[in-house]
Parts: sequence; C-alpha cells; structure tokens
Amino acid sequence: MAKKSARKSATKVGKRKPPKRAKSAKPWTNAQIAEAFRRFQAANPEPKGELQHINPFTLLVAVVLSAQATDAGVNKATPALFALADTPAKMAALGEDRVRDLIKTIGLFRTKAKNVVELSRRLVAGHGGQVPRAREALEALPGVGRKTANVVLNIAFGEPTIAVDTHIFRVGNRTGLAPGKNPLEVEQKLEQAVPAQYKRHAHHWLILHGRYTCLARKPRCESCVIADLCQWPEKTVAK
Ligand code: SF4
Repeated sequence: MAKKSARKSATKVGKRKPPKRAKSAKPWTNAQIAEAFRRFQAANPEPKGELQHINPFTLLVAVVLSAQATDAGVNKATPALFALADTPAKMAALGEDRVRDLIKTIGLFRTKAKNVVELSRRLVAGHGGQVPRAREALEALPGVGRKTANVVLNIAFGEPTIAVDTHIFRVGNRTGLAPGKNPLEVEQKLEQAVPAQYKRHAHHWLILHGRYTCLARKPRCESCVIADLCQWPEKTVAK
C-alpha cells in the first residue's frame, strides 16, 4: 500500500477539465447509487485514510502538509515532527525554523511551515488549543481550505462530509456518478446523491477507488466492483 499511496493525494483540481463521459450517459438512478455504495461497503466495511496522525490536531497538520504532496511523503516526515509537537502549544513553541527543517522533504515546505506554526498559534489564542468542529472556524486558519476542513470534520469528528480531491473528482466525472466542472460541484452532487447510511465513509471509498482501481491513466476495470454501473465510454469491461 505504501508504494501505491505515493500517488498525489491532493493535487489541485479546480482548473482541470472533467474526464470524458458518453454523450448518451444518463444520471445514475438512486438504486444504482445505493448499489455502488453497498458494494464498496461489502468490499471494505471500515475504510481508513492513509495519513498518519495521533489526534485531531496532528490530523489537521498532516492534511495541510499533504496539499500537492503525497500521503507517503507526508508520513515519512510527520513522525519526527509529531514526536516533538503533538499539540498546538508545542508546535507554536517549536517555531517556524524548526518545523521547516523537519518537513523539508515535503513540497512547498516553507509556506507550509509558516502556515502550520501560525495555525497553531491561532488555535492556542482563539480555540483553547483545540481543533474546532466547525467548517467556518477551520477554513479561517492559514493553509486550510474547504477540502482540508472536510477531511478533518470527517475523520476527526465523524461528520458525513465529502472532501473532493483529484481522485474523487476523476471518479465522479468519469463514472457519471457525480459529474461537475469543479470540486465544489462534484461535492454538491455527491452530497445530494449518496444515501445517508453511506455518507460517513463515502469520502474514503471513493478516494481508495480512485487511488487503487480507477487510476487516471490505466483504470483497472477488470477488478472494479462497479464496472457494470460505470458510464465511462472507455471502460474496458462490462459495456
Ligand atoms: S469500470 Fe473502469 S473506468 Fe469505470 S469506475 Fe471502474 S475502473 Fe473506473
């Protein structure tokens, strides 16, 4: 898994053209959507994210560090960082220079070190050293956008949010399950479409599906559990 997880987990997707769909593709029916998630659940009842963390704060930091980087790359750097600083107070005390040095193997490390220390200071000053369970408060922190807030709300607090990264954006468009021109559109379509009982884990099922089966260049349609439901014109099985 570690090798495979070297794929980028948080590539910018806002300006990317949605993958091709058949002109005749129809929206999935509610029964088809429920069936897809029933199969995802049967194959992997308790899906987990791949970013290592100890608590909500270290999860927040790991997600901030994962922007335009890989989970595997982040996981290599964070054990040493979290051993020294697993709370906002400790991270703020560690300071930008030390944090920068500890994460220098991760892309955009200078900006990320600055953001991690500043968000830690703000958590101490404005939130009693706790990660807030509120989208608005999370998105007000430096380096934290909608996707990061969604990941933290989902994994740390069990909220049924769906964070659309490059994998979910591709899967949503390619399959026809949730087509959209940008991540927000795909997120909103999924919000409407995914049955309530599957929302909590939908984010992980779709990311893992995109990361390990519905690959960008060579999707593994032969081992895909939703191949018969998928509407991608170039799928290689169950047409
Ligand atoms: S059939 Fe192929 S293209 Fe469609 S979801 Fe499965 S892996 Fe992706």
